[in-house]
Amino acid sequence: MRHNSLRGAVTIVGAGQAGLTLGIGLLQYGYTVTIVSDRSPDQIRNGRVTSSQCMFDMANGIERSFGLSLWDEECPKIAGMSVSAFAPTEPPALFNQWSARFARPARSVDQRLKMSTWMEEFERRGGQLVIDTASVASLEQYCQESDLVIVAAGKGEIAQLFERDTSRSPFTSPQRSLAMLYVSGLERPDGDALVEFNVVPGVGEYLTYPALAETGPCDIMLFEANLGGPMDIWNGAADGTELLTRAQAVLAKYFPSESVRARRVSLIDENATLVGRLTPTVRRPVATLPSGSVVLGMADVTVINDPITAQGANNATKCADIYLRAITRHIGKFDEEFMQTAFDEFWTYAEPATDFTNQFLSPTPDHARQLHVAAAEFPEIGRRFAECMNDPRDAASWILDPVGAYQYIDAIARASRPKSA
Ligand SMILES: Cc1cc2nc3c(=O)[nH]c(=O)nc-3n(C[C@H](O)[C@H](O)[C@H](O)COP(=O)(O)OP(=O)(O)OC[C@H]3O[C@@H](n4cnc5c(N)ncnc54)[C@H](O)[C@@H]3O)c2cc1C
Repeated sequence: MRHNSLRGAVTIVGAGQAGLTLGIGLLQYGYTVTIVSDRSPDQIRNGRVTSSQCMFDMANGIERSFGLSLWDEECPKIAGMSVSAFAPTEPPALFNQWSARFARPARSVDQRLKMSTWMEEFERRGGQLVIDTASVASLEQYCQESDLVIVAAGKGEIAQLFERDTSRSPFTSPQRSLAMLYVSGLERPDGDALVEFNVVPGVGEYLTYPALAETGPCDIMLFEANLGGPMDIWNGAADGTELLTRAQAVLAKYFPSESVRARRVSLIDENATLVGRLTPTVRRPVATLPSGSVVLGMADVTVINDPITAQGANNATKCADIYLRAITRHIGKFDEEFMQTAFDEFWTYAEPATDFTNQFLSPTPDHARQLHVAAAEFPEIGRRFAECMNDPRDAASWILDPVGAYQYIDAIARASRPKSA
């Protein structure tokens, strides 16, 4: 017997969205849980921003059911989304726009605030937090001490233990160059706050929405530049102030209506910016250590997508919920078959989220263009599209399927035509 708990001992590497949600969930079921984090709560709280972490209703509901929705009151509600497409002319001309409300609001809580608080909450609820950068040698050790070892280390190097699944990873290099800024002073039009998605084909995308940081409500500006394009200017900025100057110049040139709103913004703190790029990658969920022990990958370790469609933290939460249910109903050894089955269930969400995201990264196919045009005319299409952010499984039969898309547009158009007498 390796532990005192009746339910078994689980070690999770990584105190991020996935690891902490799962770890705290397992504590509720009486498991002995250890979370290994390469950063302490204070290092996370005082560190650099990591994400824009817009989370939709299903993921927020999972957090709520684990008693983890600690900021529901203070966090600005994001009521829906808008999509504005501009032609790359000078000045850029708006050629399509639609907006829709979500059935229930989305929210974004700065992961620095969320993870540092959750780590303390995890310990308060009886979990063991170890501050260490896990290596293969330490994974071997955790396998000796635990019934199950899960690697939830996000983009950490240790994720490379898990083999890339080439059949599910169409890209071998990053598709966007990212810049993210947390600001105050962004002017908002009256009315509900939205996820505002602006695109200039061939140049890139600009997303903005409100969030909650330690210092209070703020706004996030996320730039997704096409690689090598005119907006790919983030590298080499000396500091956050220079990045903000570059961001404002990009807005003035490509998104002038947004530029006016961002005239007076300032960064919320010295770590409020992030630049980078990532290669969308799907990995196999089971890694075998030199000793033969197996460990299970979760969330970003197994499925990492570009943030353009804001799916990663939502996926991480759904993964935690699925793994929690798989673990708690499992009897017997946590072997490779258990691990593959748990991941396969996660993949039912992660696959459409991945395909949906990859479609946004690629030249827009005709059916998707038609859907956006139709959404501007028929609000029902926009509403259904917006709900796919919450549950991308619905995207499979229309956003990801040309035949389904054309049939759907046709059906909605017919239904809206006045009936002849
Ligand atoms: C710019 C940007 C914007 C984004 N916007 C959104 C959005 O709007 N909506 C959305 O849903 N998703 C968004 N995402 C994605 C989302 O942030 C991630 O998908 C999500 O945080 C993944 O959760 P995770 O638990 O798998 O990994 P993480 O949250 O990254 O947590 C992993 C943790 O493991 C730690 N770690 C790494 N290596 C080790 C090690 N060897 N030992 C111990 N600890 C280790 C890391 O320090 C980290 O704390 C965005 C991502 C980026 C980069």
